[in-house]
Amino acid sequence: MTTIPLPQTGLGAAADARRVKYVRDIDKIPNIPPEERENLKRVAEKYVFRANDYYLGLIDWNDPNDPIKQLIIPRVEELSDWGNLDASNEAAVTVSKGVQHKYPHTVLLLCNEVCGAYCRYCFRKRLFMDENDEVTNDVSEGLRYIAANPNVTNVLLTGGDPLLMSTRRLREIIEAIRKIDHVKIIRIGSKMPAFDPWRFLNDSELQDLLARYSTPHKRIYLMAHFDHPRELTDIAIEGIDRFIRCGVICVNQCPLIKGINDDPQVLSNLYRKLSWIGCPPYYLFQGRPTAGNEPYEVPIVRGWEIFREALRYGSGLARRARYCMSHETGKIEILAVDEKHIYLRYHRAKDEANRGRFMIYKRNDEAYWLDHLEPAEAGGGEKFPHTSPDVFLDGPE
Ligand code: SF4
Repeated sequence: MTTIPLPQTGLGAAADARRVKYVRDIDKIPNIPPEERENLKRVAEKYVFRANDYYLGLIDWNDPNDPIKQLIIPRVEELSDWGNLDASNEAAVTVSKGVQHKYPHTVLLLCNEVCGAYCRYCFRKRLFMDENDEVTNDVSEGLRYIAANPNVTNVLLTGGDPLLMSTRRLREIIEAIRKIDHVKIIRIGSKMPAFDPWRFLNDSELQDLLARYSTPHKRIYLMAHFDHPRELTDIAIEGIDRFIRCGVICVNQCPLIKGINDDPQVLSNLYRKLSWIGCPPYYLFQGRPTAGNEPYEVPIVRGWEIFREALRYGSGLARRARYCMSHETGKIEILAVDEKHIYLRYHRAKDEANRGRFMIYKRNDEAYWLDHLEPAEAGGGEKFPHTSPDVFLDGPE
């Protein structure tokens, strides 16, 4: 294969090769008092813990509520009986092992069951449990499925984190997808740019791979996952710069998480910085009611207030996020809230009948999820929600 020479980055020395050291044992973190560690180890037995020295180094241990700490260090509240492991019923859209097909044009390949570190609020934490068998190392069945479905124009590599796979495996998968002519966009969902920017910066073979297959007519997208502006260190920014120089289009998606980014100032700082570095915000997700996630959840109404306030700052490029709930019936955008109502619309819908549907629910400041809401009543006893005429919103690509 021809090696494509990459343009030099402008940032220079920060990219010196480095290997992060993984930390899987809470006892190896001296900043946590020993008596606290025992409790946290119980949590980690249920919901696995993994971090690395670089990411742990971003924590301000003098601040008991430090957002980076909340993101990565277990909390005993995770053991409360709340939510379920597959909160948006991904099982229902799994067409074969490691292959999800919910919307007509997009297929997800769950091709890796590990991440660079584990976000405490992860909605796919079930994948990291020993007994789980949803992820596949062999994507050949998924590739056959995609090849047989000409409607599929987008393939998302996800998991787990695909960028934790070997470059050899990534090459096999990306090359195979590029042989399917109707697939135009390959997305790579990854938090490695936040957890370990050197994964990409150190790997010229991976850079060549992406530069080769992100072509002018068919791009590769990095769906980056930064949750807090403090994750945007110089080296992380250099990592994003390298993706961009490889021809990869970068966007960011993250959930709204209590104690991490549920503050309009923090969220707006994140969005503005992301827009400056060429990785603008794409989705802000309402946290799914996933088992173990109670301490990280923000009610819908509060979330909408934070989101609305955060969007007051920055240029239009910093305000491109949509605030959505990844519900089992589709991606539902939270459009507005007033004294009495919450206004929603299907941005993507699993069933054709719901495509573009506009919905009005009674305001409920305690609700975390669509299933906690009650439809509003229209005059004359008619019940909302109802279908709006703008069903074209989810038309053919
Ligand atoms: S990187 Fe993504 S998949 Fe991995 S633990 Fe975090 S949220 Fe979950």
